Amino acid sequence: MGDDFIPFARPSIGQDEVEAVSEVLRSGWITTGPRAREFEAAFADYVGSKHAVAVCSGTAALHVGLRALGVAPGDAALTSTLTFASTVNTIRHCDGTPLLLDVEADSLDIDPEQVALLLELLDSRDRVRSVESAVKDGALPPGASRATALAGRVKAVVPVHYAGRPCDLERIGEAARKHGALVLEDAAHALESKYRGEKIGSISEATAFSFYATKNITTAEGGMLTTDDEGVAARARALALHGIATPGASGRYTREGSWFYEVVEPGYKYNMTDIEAALGIVQLSRVSEFWERRTMIAGRYLEALAGLPQVDLPWGAPEGEHAWHLFPVRLRTDRLAIGRDRFIGTLRDRGIGTSVHFIPVHLHPYYRRTYGYVPGDFPVAEDFYSRCVSLPLYPALTDGEVERVIATVVAVCGEYAA
Ligand SMILES: *Cc1c(COP(=O)(O)O)cnc(C)c1O
Repeated sequence: MGDDFIPFARPSIGQDEVEAVSEVLRSGWITTGPRAREFEAAFADYVGSKHAVAVCSGTAALHVGLRALGVAPGDAALTSTLTFASTVNTIRHCDGTPLLLDVEADSLDIDPEQVALLLELLDSRDRVRSVESAVKDGALPPGASRATALAGRVKAVVPVHYAGRPCDLERIGEAARKHGALVLEDAAHALESKYRGEKIGSISEATAFSFYATKNITTAEGGMLTTDDEGVAARARALALHGIATPGASGRYTREGSWFYEVVEPGYKYNMTDIEAALGIVQLSRVSEFWERRTMIAGRYLEALAGLPQVDLPWGAPEGEHAWHLFPVRLRTDRLAIGRDRFIGTLRDRGIGTSVHFIPVHLHPYYRRTYGYVPGDFPVAEDFYSRCVSLPLYPALTDGEVERVIATVVAVCGEYAA
């Protein structure tokens, strides 16, 4: 791999970020403090939520979000298998039972019909048998019945806005409300997304964002939980810092803060440092610039690869705005002499880094062993997984690099056409 290798992801860190971080380092206050509060306020303002709680990762945001929405040991939470493991791991961190569902073939978001049907059947008298018979009839995928015998009340539905394409929040929210569940959106990919004109982060009971190094803005590691519910915000904030209830906004980290604190439950150590928050404030101020560039690159890929018979292109967002966190193409392996893994290897040999999003969660050893999932349980997600390749998509890509990605994909498809 030469110097001209195009990595799958690369953050856009400029001089302003370097200066903001240096200022914190020189200030004498490096952990949670004024910059974290400022980042929260700017973020709440950006998404249009009443509250934003800064934490150390998107995973932490999901975890305190689930807990704050009331997911307790024995409860169940419902999400899709085509996601990063932490969406599901955090349900286990609450000692809850994850109920997985498949995605829609076009959008790759959780299938809202499956959500509505599963919630309905779980409310029926013989819930396990009802779900099993829906699987037999083909109304639900086989995996939908694996964990139902262990599942308590469904307290939360966790839709993942895959790649940044917004989920059908209306149908999901309606089904959740009807069956007494709350919605926690996994918006790790959806910083700039909108659903029917409304910003993601301002719609459901709570929403979790990630600022991991590859995400649309980054704090290296970091996350945010947004909500309009003061109680949810207060509980999440306490859980993120040892379970310490903070009286008002001042907290114990300001100069006026006193030595006194009260632990109201055994919380975690999930707070965001001012070093990270300073980075986040600058990154957030560049969010439109970043998103316009991402949208332009995605548009160029869509245009240039449209006629290529060996790939199916990702769907846009007819009901809102797409954040374009990822650009996942589906290989038409029936028209290619090589499979997905060799396709990725060939691109790598020619200087293009790609990735796979995601290994469906039910195929991981822990989830197979614990709930009995097997291949075939979620056919749409598995078919997608076997054929998907995420192309590089980030603002730091130059026009020349974008054209090289396109030319290389076209060349490899041509050479291995079957
Ligand atoms: C990145 C990601 C997360 C976790 O975020 P971290 O900040 O890495 O903890 C959760 N869900 C999805 C879909 C992600 O892509």
